[in-house]
Amino acid sequence: MGRSSLVIHGPVLTDGRELPAARIETANGRIVAVRPGGGADGADLVVADGWIIPGLIDLQVNGAGGVDLTSAHDPDEAVAAVAGVLAQHGVTAFCPTVVSSPPEAIPSRLVAYGARAHPGGAESLGAHLEGPFLDPEHRGVHDPAALRLPDAGEIERWLATRHPTIVTLAPELPGALAAIRRLAEAGVVVSLGHSGADAAAARAGLEAGARMGTHLFNAMPPFHHRQPGLVGALLAGSATLGIIADGVHVDPLAIDVAVRAAGPGRIALVSDALAAAATPPSPSRLGAQTVLSDGRIARRADGTMAGSAILLDGGLRNVRSWLPWLPPAEVVRMATRTPAEALGGDVAARKGRVAPGYDADLVILDPDWQVVATVVRGVVLDTSSSKVPSTR
Ligand code: ZN
Repeated sequence: MGRSSLVIHGPVLTDGRELPAARIETANGRIVAVRPGGGADGADLVVADGWIIPGLIDLQVNGAGGVDLTSAHDPDEAVAAVAGVLAQHGVTAFCPTVVSSPPEAIPSRLVAYGARAHPGGAESLGAHLEGPFLDPEHRGVHDPAALRLPDAGEIERWLATRHPTIVTLAPELPGALAAIRRLAEAGVVVSLGHSGADAAAARAGLEAGARMGTHLFNAMPPFHHRQPGLVGALLAGSATLGIIADGVHVDPLAIDVAVRAAGPGRIALVSDALAAAATPPSPSRLGAQTVLSDGRIARRADGTMAGSAILLDGGLRNVRSWLPWLPPAEVVRMATRTPAEALGGDVAARKGRVAPGYDADLVILDPDWQVVATVVRGVVLDTSSSKVPSTR
């Protein structure tokens, strides 16, 4: 099946709604028509039992398939490999994520992880720099030696090299508000996280232009009714909140509370996947450190949670089972339209929906929401062969 045109017929979940049977027509990588109730005549793919959803969008991916994006020797090769693994799991666009690193390690990754298509894999939406301007007290598994205070000169070097798409930083650090203003003005999405900010410092960060929260609840002080802190400020505001849905980083009940508080239009499911994702349990890298995976979560030897070993399709299935009160199409929204809208601009205008004019990025799920096929820009990828990933 070529890229020029593709017709898919079946039930669709998009925009928080369920379309019982729709005919989706694509041309040149774009959706040109969505006809609810349209016939299946001449369709290339007919989904009789299952769902068609927009391609999944993961804003925080450290690696997958044995490849760590922060420490990879060859970042171009690394991102292409990760993109291929993600597409096998229904992810059609992602932000390659770099954890806190020395200043000289970042520019080459900004270039390699910049927004671009990866043939046969998920499209990169540009790099997510998670750090290095983080609170040492809430560093999680980040290397303390790589943490530093917000530095205007370093930010200018990033912007002169290639804009990151997302920067996670701690708003309470000296210089953070100026950094947020500068990045936001340059069109970078600033996300608050790895932070001990109280509510006032968190609000100041949001007022300075931060538009996201990074893995809500993790690497920040817990919500307290007299000290609501960053969690409270994020839940009460209008920012989009990333949340890890592996069932270990965040209790399912806390995800339920967050979704009820912020709504599916503000909760973006992320994998926070590590190299260990989509590989058999084994030791793997995160930056300069070694982590161990049990197949669901990866930890450092001292037990510190490092990241997830599942990908976004697994998180989607989890949330569907944990939140039975939430319409399935709203669950899908949290891994599609909401992350696209968090990035805004061009991405929001062409990703995250099954609608005319949008990229033909689609996933076909079986009734159990396992990925049957992934379509990237109108091209059907073969997802049958490599459910068992290779190790490297
Ligand atoms: Zn983190």
